[in-house]
Amino acid sequence: QCAAPAPAMAEAAVVARVPPDEDGDECLPQYRHLLSPDLLAGQVAFITGGGSGIGFRIAEIFMRHGCRTVIASRNLQRVSEASKKLMAATGQQCLPLSMDVRQPQTIVAAVDEALKEFQRIDILINGAAGNFLCPASALSFNAFKTVIDIDTMGTFNTSKVLFEKYFRDHGGVIVNITATLSYRGQALQVHAGAAKAAIDAMTRHLAVEWGPNNIRVNSLAPGPITGTEGFRRLGGRFAEKSDQFSVIPLQRAGNKTEIAHSALYLASPLSSYVTGTTLVVDGGSWLTSPNSFSALLGIASSSAK
Ligand code: NAP
Repeated sequence: QCAAPAPAMAEAAVVARVPPDEDGDECLPQYRHLLSPDLLAGQVAFITGGGSGIGFRIAEIFMRHGCRTVIASRNLQRVSEASKKLMAATGQQCLPLSMDVRQPQTIVAAVDEALKEFQRIDILINGAAGNFLCPASALSFNAFKTVIDIDTMGTFNTSKVLFEKYFRDHGGVIVNITATLSYRGQALQVHAGAAKAAIDAMTRHLAVEWGPNNIRVNSLAPGPITGTEGFRRLGGRFAEKSDQFSVIPLQRAGNKTEIAHSALYLASPLSSYVTGTTLVVDGGSWLTSPNSFSALLGIASSSAK
């Protein structure tokens, strides 16, 4: 006869299954490997937006699995400080580089420098993005274009440079960080939703065209992720305070370590036969979360103050 676990024990077991995270752009004080620490040994990952938020944690988790990293974004000081923290916590090499995903020449220069340093790049994480809440009626033409330029064009530009410089001849893995915003037409998010939907389409097109070159291309779509700029800007704190996360099937927001673990799966040989797909990592959120125009408008106007 099986006895149900006592509630306190059951709760402790559930909590233990959620990997710990740190708020802000800090490394984890401790890390318990669930997979082999050698999973990415000898490999190099090029991570756009790797100096902060989700991209920072992806860099850390990859480095904790033997990977060397390049973290690239516009602000050199941000990536330089991040790389120091990452190297101190993991003992792996991390090269910080400044580039703007909207300017192909800066990507070419960064990829050349990365190849000079490491002689190889095995993984590309397209994480650079910009977002804010804004109703379509108030969105300027330029604001819409800027988000498309950074998210969609930036993902294409960086993927194409990596393809030409290295992946075409050596194979590789691309993971595009997208979002679930377009699945139900999230209010106040036409710019980011459209930009990320285009990236999901790009994922499938490039998976088809570049599969014969031994390049896998997948998207990873996070839900609300604590300790990130996205969470702060898009009403995460308000949702947390007003208990909105209880409607998510897993009853909570996700954390950066959880996203990094999913990126690790997609980037590693664990997913060697997976390409052209989107892995949604949102606790089931998009299926059940309300799409409340008025609540979001309130957050948008108060966060603009
Ligand atoms: P974040 O910390 O603001 O990360 C965005 C990064 O992109 C920054 O490091 C920024 O660095 C870089 N970046 C922005 N514009 C750039 C440009 N033109 N060229 C190069 N780099 C640029 O945000 P996050 O919340 O962790 O989000 C990371 C990714 O996850 C994004 O793709 C986001 O859309 C996605 N996502 C996040 C959530 C969430 O809850 N946080 C949910 C769904 C999807 P610089 O300023 O130095 O350029």
